[in-house]
Amino acid sequence: MRNVKLLICLDCNSVFNLDYEWKECKCGHSKGKYIDNLNAIFEGDAAVPLGFSNASLITAINNQPDQGLGEEFTAFVIPRKCPTFRKNDELDKPVM
Ligand SMILES: [Zn+2]
Repeated sequence: MRNVKLLICLDCNSVFNLDYEWKECKCGHSKGKYIDNLNAIFEGDAAVPLGFSNASLITAINNQPDQGLGEEFTAFVIPRKCPTFRKNDELDKPVM
């Protein structure tokens, strides 16, 4: 199961998932979209790509506590050079 790709915009703190149509944050400085079922692209100097571990998110949802502390799951900041989630102005550059 692939992980969920998201963007956070550092200008407006929007966190949003992606779709096959361009989606953008509230302030419009960050946007992204899937280009197929694995690869995504994004634009904007304020945009930081995030990933949610799908398996750990589902486990956490299934173990949602009634009260007390929340159930943690794995989220991560995707590396600057990621072949499956690339900044749009770097599409012509080879991935190191
Ligand atoms: Zn924004």
